[in-house]
Amino acid sequence: MRAFDATQMYFDRAADHLELNDNMRRLLLIPKREVQVQIAVEMDKGELATFIGYRVQHNNSRGPMKGGLRYHPQVDLDEVRSLAALMTWKTAVVNLPYGGAKGGIAIDPLRLSRREVERITRKFIDEIHDVIGPDRDIPAPDMGTGAEEMAWIMNQYSKYHGFNPAVVTGKPVEMFGVPGREEATGRGVGIFVIKLLSRLKRKPQETRAAIQGFGNVGSHTAKFLSEAECKVVAVSDVTGGYYRPEGLDLPAMFRHKREHRGLLEGYTGAERMTNAELLELDVELLIPAALGGVITEENAPRIKAPVIVEGANAPIEPQGDQILDEHGVVILPDILANAGGVTASYFEWVQNQQHYQWGLNRVRQELDHVLSEAFERVWEISIERKVTLRTAAYILGINRVGRATVLGGIT
Ligand code: NAD
Repeated sequence: MRAFDATQMYFDRAADHLELNDNMRRLLLIPKREVQVQIAVEMDKGELATFIGYRVQHNNSRGPMKGGLRYHPQVDLDEVRSLAALMTWKTAVVNLPYGGAKGGIAIDPLRLSRREVERITRKFIDEIHDVIGPDRDIPAPDMGTGAEEMAWIMNQYSKYHGFNPAVVTGKPVEMFGVPGREEATGRGVGIFVIKLLSRLKRKPQETRAAIQGFGNVGSHTAKFLSEAECKVVAVSDVTGGYYRPEGLDLPAMFRHKREHRGLLEGYTGAERMTNAELLELDVELLIPAALGGVITEENAPRIKAPVIVEGANAPIEPQGDQILDEHGVVILPDILANAGGVTASYFEWVQNQQHYQWGLNRVRQELDHVLSEAFERVWEISIERKVTLRTAAYILGINRVGRATVLGGIT
């Protein structure tokens, strides 16, 4: 299923509850602007290479557009478009004064040197600098990008528009970033897990968790959950899954990752399994925190976890979601579950505008506050309207965006 069709199906379910007419649905769904650019660079060995870069700006009725930049071989316009729409609903669910956008380049950063990635990133900004900006569209890290790429973006943008660190978030702390941004998405996933378990009358100590992905989101989620006394029994990365029923030795895995170019390949302290097997483990909690579309109609009937928290964006396709729902699986959706990252990004942007930096404790406190409010609101809507947490989150997000659109007027 195409990624944007999947997002639209979730949107439609909530729009039915809100009784939105077709014109309003089209207005809210169609992106404001889609940019596709050629990125031609010279590689380290002197040959010329050409890549395609995308930036989709979905909606700005609640504020400047905000969304990550993804480097992955499977990036295409349809995926970026769907992720941009998710950002619109996500920023509205957590009530940040932002709209939604997303960008991506179809490259595999692990197969490129850092200098090549830098040249590609800077060239991409050369091509799109006039459509982004602190009050227009603010990129951030996503899969395959991190603080270093964000620093290059800030620097390249400044060559055209002068010093303005608020043009991008997720920057290194020593370069106008905030402490706590890097951990924020995983920390947020962890905060939500604990809240959800408590509502479901489950104990962290009796919860075994499997996490797909051991990058920014997966690894920080694993750390938070093990500190909260959940037992993390499986994690994975692009090299496969690592399972230890008694609980993984996470500090050893972090060490291994650091020493092996960010990968778990070669780690011997756990049983090996495939990424597909990890999803079907007999655990109390499953957290897909890598790619989209990993739970489908085909494998959903074999998923055993009664609770799923979507660390990744769009990890469950609508038909899979339907099957899980029929099996009574409780799913905390991406547009709430992984909103910790954009929330901390918002704090970074605010601080850049004010030229004042908060400490880690304040960032964590405010993050907890924003996420807790959103969780309570989504939970209430799901009870009031007798809908899943996903539909409740969409109802909240679409309602806020729809109201802002109508209040702002469209002529
Ligand atoms: P990352 O690049 O830091 O990590 C991605 C992880 O997925 C790595 O462990 C990688 O090895 C693994 N992976 C890559 N290809 C895989 C494959 N084919 N099978 C299994 N694993 C694979 O990325 P991230 O920032 O942690 O993002 C992960 C997900 O979370 C994405 O869906 C992203 O959109 C979403 N997300 C990220 C943030 C953020 O702040 N970074 C915020 C919200 C949502």
